[in-house]
Amino acid sequence: MAPVRVAVIGAGFAGLAAAVQLKRQGIESFTVYEKAGDLGGTWRDNTYPGAGCDIPSHLYSYAFAPYRDSRIRYPGQPEVLQYLRAVARDHGVERHVRYGTEITAARFDDRRGHWTLHTADGGTHTADVVVSAVGQLHLPNVPHLPGAEDFAGAAFHTARWDHGHALDGRSVAVVGTGSSAAQVVPAIAGRVRRLYVFQRSANWVLPKPGARFHPALSLLLRTVPAAHRAYRSMLFRRSEAVLLRALRRNRLIGSLLRTMALRHLRAGVPDPGLRARLTPDFTVGCKRIVLSSDWYPTLARDHVDVVTEPIERVTEKGIETADGVHREVDTIVYATGFRTTEFLAPMTVTGRAGRALGEVWRGGARAYLGIHVPGFPNLFLMYGPNTNLGHNSVILTLEAQAVHIARCVALLASRAAAGNGPVMEATPQALDAWQRRVDEGSAGTVWAGSCTSWFKTGDGVLTNNWPYRTTLYQRLTARPDPDAFRFPQPRSTAESADDLHHVPD
Ligand code: NAP
Repeated sequence: MAPVRVAVIGAGFAGLAAAVQLKRQGIESFTVYEKAGDLGGTWRDNTYPGAGCDIPSHLYSYAFAPYRDSRIRYPGQPEVLQYLRAVARDHGVERHVRYGTEITAARFDDRRGHWTLHTADGGTHTADVVVSAVGQLHLPNVPHLPGAEDFAGAAFHTARWDHGHALDGRSVAVVGTGSSAAQVVPAIAGRVRRLYVFQRSANWVLPKPGARFHPALSLLLRTVPAAHRAYRSMLFRRSEAVLLRALRRNRLIGSLLRTMALRHLRAGVPDPGLRARLTPDFTVGCKRIVLSSDWYPTLARDHVDVVTEPIERVTEKGIETADGVHREVDTIVYATGFRTTEFLAPMTVTGRAGRALGEVWRGGARAYLGIHVPGFPNLFLMYGPNTNLGHNSVILTLEAQAVHIARCVALLASRAAAGNGPVMEATPQALDAWQRRVDEGSAGTVWAGSCTSWFKTGDGVLTNNWPYRTTLYQRLTARPDPDAFRFPQPRSTAESADDLHHVPD
C-alpha cells in the first residue's frame, strides 16, 4: 500500500509544527509547499522597524523545542525567525520544504479521493491529505482610500516594508494604531522630520516589560535548567487565570486592567487633550490589547501628531481629513492590519461535488475543532476559524492542531494498510455541536460587544477567536473522535459511490 501523501501549505509556525508532528508519527511522505524563498511566515514577512513579539519568548515557542536563551525575554523579529530556522534544521524538516511554490487552488477529486493542487506557475501536484497552514495574518489589508493611486511619494504596508526607502528627515503618515503601529511608530520617530499618526480608534495599551531579563533572573535561568520550564509554566497559567477571565467579562480583572492602562496613559501623555483622544471607548480586550512602553511617550513628542479626524482622501502630496485639513507627507505607512476573516484566501478550495469553500463560508468561516469542514474530506486547517487566542500564545493552539492532524494522518495510514480508503470527513452534526459550544462561549466574552476588531467579520460574526481555556482546546483536539467523522470510500474503490455525492446543506 502506498503511503498517505500529505501536502502542507505554508512553512510558518503552523506548517513547521505540522511537519515535526508528522515525523513523530513516523510519516515522511509529506511536502511543505512554501510560496516564498524562505520559511517563517509572518515572521519572515514583517520586517518593519521595531518588529518583535509582545508575548514572552518562553511562551512564544513550541513545547517540543523549548526556548532556552536566558537573556531574551521578548524576542525581536530576527530572533523569532532564527528560532524557527533552528527548529526546521534540528528536526529535519528543511528537506521536505519546496520553496517558491505558491498553491493557488486545491480541488478534491471525488472519484479518486485525493486532492489536486495547482501552483502559481501552472504546475499541479496530488496529495491524499492537505494541511492548510497559511495563517490568519498573511493578507495585508490596504484600505482603498480615494486618491491613493495619485500619491507621488512612497506608500507601503507594514508587512511589506520598503527597506530601500530611507525615512530620515521625511514627513511620514502612519495609518492605524494597532500592535504593528505601536511597534513601528516609536522605532521610526527619532529619524523622521514629522510624523502623523492617523487614528480611527484608540486602543487599550499596557506597559511592556524590558526585552531582556533582569540579570538576576538571567543568572537563575542560566544556572538552573528547570527554571526555564517553570517560567514557561508560570506564564501559561497566568494567562489562563487572569487574562482569560478579563475577556470573559470578569468585572474585577477588567477594571484592574482598565486602571492600569489609564495610569499608563497618564504617565506617558501629559497633555489632557491628547489623553482624551487616546482613551478608548470600548471594553478592555474587545480589540487586542496593545503592549508597549514607548507608544505613548512617542505620541507626546513635539514633531508627532495624532490625527483623529477621519481620512477623506489621499492627494498627490499628502492626506486630507474630513475637516478639510491637508497634511503634506512624502511617505505613507499602512499599519492597517490584515484580511483576517478570509482565512485560506486567495487560494480557491473546492471540495466534494465541486463545492467551493468560499461559498460554504459565505456567512462566516466555521470548522469542527477549527480544523475540519464537512464536505472537504482530508482537508485539515491550522489556525482555522475560532482558534486564535486572545489571552495566551497561539503557538499552543497550533501545536495542539499539529498533534491532532498527525494523529488523523496516522489513522488514515492504518486504514490504508488495512485496505480501506484513506479518507475522513467531519460530519455536519459534529460541526453544528462544536459551533454551538463556541458561540455560547463567545456570547459571554468582551468580543460580543459592538466594537469592531480583526476577530470578526464586517457583519459582526466572531470567526477568529477561541473563547475558552487553552487547556480545553488541547483536550478536545488531542485525539480524533471517530464519532465525529465519516470514512467514505473513494469512488474508484467503493462498492457504492453515492455516499460521496451527498453534500450537506
Ligand atoms: P490591527 O490590530 O488590525 O490594526 C489595524 C489598525 O489600522 C487599526 O488601528 C485600525 O483601526 C486601522 N485601520 C484599518 N483600516 C483603516 C482605514 N481604512 N482607515 C483608518 N484606519 C484603519 O493590525 P496590526 O496592528 O497589524 O496587528 C494585527 C495583529 O497582528 C495583532 O492584533 C496581533 O495579533 C498581531 N501582531 C502581533 C504583534 C506581537 O508583538 N505579537 C505585533 C504586531 C502584530 P480600527 O481599530 O478602527 O479598525
